[in-house]
Amino acid sequence: MRYLPVFGILLATLFAPAARAQPASMPHNVVLFVADGLRARMVDDSTAPTMAAIARDGVNLRNGHALFPTFTTANASAMATGHMLGDTGDFSNTIYTGFEVPGAGKSMTPFLESDPVLGDVDEHFGGNYLNEATILKLAREKGYSTATIGKLGPALVFDPTERSGNETIVVDDSTGSARGIPLASDVIERLKAASLPLAAPPRGVNAAAGNMSIPGTSSANAIQQDYFASVATRVVLPAFKTRNKPFVLVFWSRDPDGTQHNQGDSLNELVPGINGPTSLAAIRNADDDLARIRSALDELGLLDTTDMIVTADHGFSTISKESSTSATVKMKFADVLEGHLPVGFVALDLAQALNLPLLDPDDGYRSIGEGRHPRLGNGLVGGDRSNPKIVVAANGGSDLIYIPDGDKDMAGRVVDALLAQDYVSGIFVDAKLGRFRGTLTLDDVALAGTAVTPMPAIAVSFRSFDTVCGEPVRCTVEVADTGLQQGQGMHGSFSRADTWNFMAMQGPDFKSHFVDPAPASNADLGRTIAQLMALDVHDKGKLIGRVLAEALPNGAIPPVKSRVLTSEPAPNGLATMIDLQTVGDTRYFDAAGFQGRTVGLSATSLAPATQWMRRGPSAAKAALQDPCAPPRIGPNGCTASRPGHTAVARLAARHENCHCAIGRRYGMRELGTKGSAISQAAQPRCRVHAGRAHRACAPGDA
Ligand SMILES: [Zn+2]
Ligand SMILES: [Zn+2]
Repeated sequence: MRYLPVFGILLATLFAPAARAQPASMPHNVVLFVADGLRARMVDDSTAPTMAAIARDGVNLRNGHALFPTFTTANASAMATGHMLGDTGDFSNTIYTGFEVPGAGKSMTPFLESDPVLGDVDEHFGGNYLNEATILKLAREKGYSTATIGKLGPALVFDPTERSGNETIVVDDSTGSARGIPLASDVIERLKAASLPLAAPPRGVNAAAGNMSIPGTSSANAIQQDYFASVATRVVLPAFKTRNKPFVLVFWSRDPDGTQHNQGDSLNELVPGINGPTSLAAIRNADDDLARIRSALDELGLLDTTDMIVTADHGFSTISKESSTSATVKMKFADVLEGHLPVGFVALDLAQALNLPLLDPDDGYRSIGEGRHPRLGNGLVGGDRSNPKIVVAANGGSDLIYIPDGDKDMAGRVVDALLAQDYVSGIFVDAKLGRFRGTLTLDDVALAGTAVTPMPAIAVSFRSFDTVCGEPVRCTVEVADTGLQQGQGMHGSFSRADTWNFMAMQGPDFKSHFVDPAPASNADLGRTIAQLMALDVHDKGKLIGRVLAEALPNGAIPPVKSRVLTSEPAPNGLATMIDLQTVGDTRYFDAAGFQGRTVGLSATSLAPATQWMRRGPSAAKAALQDPCAPPRIGPNGCTASRPGHTAVARLAARHENCHCAIGRRYGMRELGTKGSAISQAAQPRCRVHAGRAHRACAPGDA
């Protein structure tokens, strides 16, 4: 459901307890704490006790959703504006801009986690590349105090057009350097008084990513985040207290993301992957920062008047660099383990399939020859520097492909090339380029809107599987277009492991001890904060999140519908599917991809079964009995393992007391209102009897 701004204020009034001032006149403060890359199912009293307590005592948004592509700046743009990515134009961390970006060394495929790059794209795209006002801009225009602290890139996305430092306080990795946003004089005075440096420290050993023979880091991002947490608790919150106005503070914790990417616990091995001790220390590091912020609010007497919203921009997966179809695994590269995919494999494979030359936008537009891969994975294929035929923006668990001249025939050739690769799972094409069998459209995943940045022609998600730890979303592995190694961490895919972020809220405007079974997304958070602060929102685009009204006092749980969208199958049988939930007009994408190649995708449920039926009853029966079909993961984390149990999964999604069996039992126990088990799903045979056999089944199983 969507609320117009006026109605939003009305709702805020309706939901405000009678004894308190109305939000429209005096809103409470908001702290948005983002634990970058924190998977929903990794939070408990031992890994992250502060977050676990907020979810338990406040609102547990257990059906959370990151937006696809499941990357950082993209999801930051959704939180910041309340819009989905088709409107914000922040389609991924690395996008094609159509111009040579000065702050990115003249690359046309800049990595957006950079203050200079965000300034350049703002300037190029009419002063605001997001094309929608952010909650921090709207809040400061209302006279509230605003600050955004933490990870370079997403921190500034919350107010990218305010680069003076005088209105919104911006403290990120670049603070104190020529590339950073300046500090206002009163902030400098407070930093000095607190004996804190005027420049942010680097990540140090946490930044060590290792290489194909040297493991990456074994340290969380402790030193740098200690600085950010100190600035938040000893400088910014005390300053806000003195100002005595409502405030919005965004704190973006790089952990666990940066550590899960770089960790050296698992070099070239899939286990423990991102579940090793270094990654767990990073989760705890983020939790410790949150605890410090809560304590500071408490000491300043602000806790009772502050709404705490905790989210993650996306989930996470362990990296696989294996493929049996990519030509690149037979090539030799100095920095890639033999037989592994190099960064840039999509650009290299497409250049080969199309028989066109490849230029590297991140290496002076040099031509890429034998034994070399694009430096950062991005590539201009065909044409020349100013007029490429296609552009690959490499990101990790998914890539973006642009066709600047809108050549429909080229789009078809790219789709055909992608359909031939075992690492692909899910292809989404700009509907203006035509309809292609095996694919769905960018519109189907909310990537077609009013964005002012160039719209991708194709978003391609990569294959995922799990290592059989008992709960697939906790041990998902994905093929990733990255310079990192197998066994390190990545995100960006359309698996449930990457879309399922941790989300919880607690504060004076929220219910207590409330488990919210309805789907929620990062765009919803932007929308909900706008309502809590009674901001004057004027939307340009229509891809809008919803206010999480059910989490507010007296709010009712909205009706939720689930459905599966399936494309026409390609000639080789592959079909892109999406599992989605809807609340009114608002869509939530659980998982998408090809059957058998994406963790969390409903395997052989009704829609594809219908499709198999078209190929004959025996094919349908075979599909339904396929023991290697991945389990369906319900939005609440329960696993319904077999097609016949899809209905059970759906039913369970409406129950809050559903328990997932961990360990050898993959079945699902569902408790009725009286606490008795009312159904039990069977285990998939290949998991029980063959252990990791499903991995052998996974490639090409569609
Ligand atoms: Zn992130
Ligand atoms: Zn990341």
